[in-house]
Amino acid sequence: MVTVADMREMTNHNVLISGASIAGPALAFWLERYGFTPTIVEKAPALRQGGQAIDVLGTATEIVRRMGLLERVQAASTGKRGTSYVDVHGTVRASISSEVFNGVGANGDTEIQRGDLAQVLYDATSDKVDYLFGDSITAMVQDQDGVHVTFEHSPARTFDLVIGADGVHSHTRRLAFGPESDFLRHMGYYIAIYTTPNLLNLDHWEYDYNTPGTIAGSYSARHNTQAKAIFAWASDPIDHDYRDGAAQRRILCDTFAGQGWEVPRLLAELPAAQDFYFDAMAQIRMRSWSTGRVALVGDAGYCASPLSGQGANLSLVGAYVLAGQLATAAGEHTAAFAGYEREMRPMVDACQKFAEGVGGWYAPNSRTMIRVRDLNVRLLPYLPWRGLIGGAPQKVARTIEAAAYV
Ligand SMILES: Cc1cc2nc3c(=O)[nH]c(=O)nc-3n(C[C@H](O)[C@H](O)[C@H](O)COP(=O)(O)OP(=O)(O)OC[C@H]3O[C@@H](n4cnc5c(N)ncnc54)[C@H](O)[C@@H]3O)c2cc1C
Repeated sequence: MVTVADMREMTNHNVLISGASIAGPALAFWLERYGFTPTIVEKAPALRQGGQAIDVLGTATEIVRRMGLLERVQAASTGKRGTSYVDVHGTVRASISSEVFNGVGANGDTEIQRGDLAQVLYDATSDKVDYLFGDSITAMVQDQDGVHVTFEHSPARTFDLVIGADGVHSHTRRLAFGPESDFLRHMGYYIAIYTTPNLLNLDHWEYDYNTPGTIAGSYSARHNTQAKAIFAWASDPIDHDYRDGAAQRRILCDTFAGQGWEVPRLLAELPAAQDFYFDAMAQIRMRSWSTGRVALVGDAGYCASPLSGQGANLSLVGAYVLAGQLATAAGEHTAAFAGYEREMRPMVDACQKFAEGVGGWYAPNSRTMIRVRDLNVRLLPYLPWRGLIGGAPQKVARTIEAAAYV
């Protein structure tokens, strides 16, 4: 068991975290429990909703259990039962149940909307952690006394440590480590997702339609009261400002213009969507996740891309390990950041490797490969080694155990 150092000697109490999605609030939860004083700055004016259904699997499930939040997470589960692949006429070509596909449901693991998980984590921290919404770091200067931070709106302050939990396009990373292009690895696909009415009357189910290199789909959400439209497609990097939502909506419409099945109906809902999410599927690869008193957690430091299906798991585990290492080292950041790096690296490597090749299954690049994928899906429940394939995400999500820090 890892023991927590004597709290009376603890140093570096005041920790600024940039980003209030999954990694940021999860880190604040554990830091506060260990006696630190976390503050979270979030650029958005309020907690951001939206995003895909995400899996909480393996070690992350155990961590959520230790947070005392497993019941709440399970109560918000999507309850999705499976996925069907359809042709242009809507005829089902292959179907698979969620349990065969990714093992969700086993050992308390669950699938939850990203925004719902963020809400659970926010609710568990908002009375103990100072949240600064609608603000952002503008500059950081560090010396032996701390990190001197200026904000867009709040007065300048000095923190002992600053942790970037601000996602794949991390601003903290840019300020402390250098330009995004030094670390971002494009995976060859884009993704877009938004909420729609349950147009297809789906019952805890997903329908997906492929053309070579693209996939468009819809799955029911919030127990069939609404649905998500989801699009992904193979593409080289698209030259645009990733903050320009109007340009992104145009790119999506242009890419799927003229497609059949229910694509026109799904796209017709786009103008009304309040929670449009669009991004390149990309990984962040860094040799080190810390520099002096600044460190990164979650997608900011080691995004494995949506193709991995492990973003939330990496964030929950990374936050737990980073806080645990800081507690163990009584706040001494050099030792803590080195321990964090050592402990997390195997899981990050495994998740990033896992994402490679997934795109070819998800959005096959030819009609032949779409048929091959459908055939595989149909056969999967009968294959003796289906457990190995279906259990692969679980295995990756268990790359490291949750150490006992207390
Ligand atoms: C609205 C939204 C929708 C998403 N939808 C999907 C999806 O459909 N599929 C998928 O695979 N992944 C999605 N993701 C990414 C997914 O949440 C992450 O892969 C994963 O959960 C890791 O989370 P994270 O906390 O490290 O980063 P993220 O979830 O990306 O959160 C980063 C947070 O930092 C905030 N932030 C950004 N810049 C600044 C700044 N300068 N100052 C302060 N705060 C800042 C962001 O507003 C956000 O709240 C989405 C993320 C968001 C924010």
